[in-house]
Amino acid sequence: MLKALLITPVLAASFGALAATIQVQAVSQHLHILTAQDYGTNIGVFKSPDGVVLIDPMPGKTNLAQLSKTVSEIHHKPVTHILNTHNHEDHSGGNAYFMERGAQLVEGDVKLAGFSRVMVKSHTSVDNIFYHKPSNTIFVGDVFDTSWHPTFYAGGVEGFKDAIEIILQIGDEQSVIIPGHGAVSNKASLREFRANTLLWVDTVRAFRKKSYSVEKIMAENESKKIVARFNVQGKVPFLPDTAYKRFVERTIQVIEQEENKGGE
Ligand SMILES: [Zn+2]
Repeated sequence: MLKALLITPVLAASFGALAATIQVQAVSQHLHILTAQDYGTNIGVFKSPDGVVLIDPMPGKTNLAQLSKTVSEIHHKPVTHILNTHNHEDHSGGNAYFMERGAQLVEGDVKLAGFSRVMVKSHTSVDNIFYHKPSNTIFVGDVFDTSWHPTFYAGGVEGFKDAIEIILQIGDEQSVIIPGHGAVSNKASLREFRANTLLWVDTVRAFRKKSYSVEKIMAENESKKIVARFNVQGKVPFLPDTAYKRFVERTIQVIEQEENKGGE
């Protein structure tokens, strides 16, 4: 289903030598997804009646010049508006570059034609979900990542569940879901991601009840198997040990915060 929607990714080589590290993927006639090395942030470039709208420009001086060049090669117009799914550097670090060149940062309500915004609290305390109706795409930022483990630390389990439910209610079953990083996705994969995330939390919770240490939780086969489910692109290796450890620790923090709330 998804493959049929996507035009074969166009390598940036066809957009000129300067843009060699930017990958361009045409999702529809209105929307291109640009990605570059370093951060791997999924950057959206929309053609809208209001101008050229950019979602989540990542930082990096050379990247930004290439990004800007790639956008003008696609649309022959400069970026007019910027949207950020959240305020982490890898999603907003390029704002200033485009604002210096005349783009406007749109915060709060979005009044651009074809766009709507819903706020959730999961990955950060303010996660913006952007829906673009003409292309039927939903930009979900780091609430959903297809290249990493889940990071639901600001909203905890409840915030995560609410956020996913809200996203699932936007658009229809054919809606294309653009995660903050990693391969373009769909609702079926998002449901799977939700199930795996909840299974992960339940598993860590059960290990904690048995007083397992962080190291013991990491070493358990059950833990490793669940973490491997987040490796949808089959990366080898997937998580460095430091990231895996941090994931276990942060999950325990979320569980403890929940318990403290429940005990009040
Ligand atoms: Zn983030």
